[in-house]
Amino acid sequence: MKIICIGRNYVQHAQELGNEIPSSPVIFMKPDTAVLKKGSDFYIPEFSNDVHYELEVVLKISKGGKYIQEENASKHFDEIGLGIDFTARDLQSELKSKGLPWELSKAFDGSAVISEFYSKDEFDIKNMNFSLLKNKEEAQNGNTSLMIFSPEKIIAFVSQYFTLRVGDLIFTGTPKGVGKVTENDQLDAFLEDKKLFSLRIQ
Ligand code: MG
Repeated sequence: MKIICIGRNYVQHAQELGNEIPSSPVIFMKPDTAVLKKGSDFYIPEFSNDVHYELEVVLKISKGGKYIQEENASKHFDEIGLGIDFTARDLQSELKSKGLPWELSKAFDGSAVISEFYSKDEFDIKNMNFSLLKNKEEAQNGNTSLMIFSPEKIIAFVSQYFTLRVGDLIFTGTPKGVGKVTENDQLDAFLEDKKLFSLRIQ
């Protein structure tokens, strides 16, 4: 199983980090060892003093393929969930400034929080609200209608480079409002009114 992540897929998030609006999707990956075990707390790694939450809609690939056409892409995923793409922002800034890959700041153990998955038919995936509460106060909210690249466009794009297999996950990018976590924070993630997970930071 591989985890493909999209960066800068919401205009206001790209702007809050001072990045240009991309003309094609920004892609990176996390290994399966990045997945935080269900029910576990998230431990801030010792190599960062600025770990950020990034709440994202996650697609689960249900039918593999290569060179998937955009018009057929919706047939390749039938479940969605939410995830957090934890990012060591201080380390990422250092890597970016040196023109180096981001993996150390994005793909470390525990950096991928993933909820249970639900049938996409339960939601209007083109116009779906999702939000993250930090210590019971809203920290992030997004709507999938604000994505620069739709799930179908993302699948068509990435499958030109990577064969998609059943069970692969795609993190579709975070909306504005990313921020730092500190010890004892509690994060709660909602897809519309449905609470998908709670997470304690250590
Ligand atoms: Mg992200």
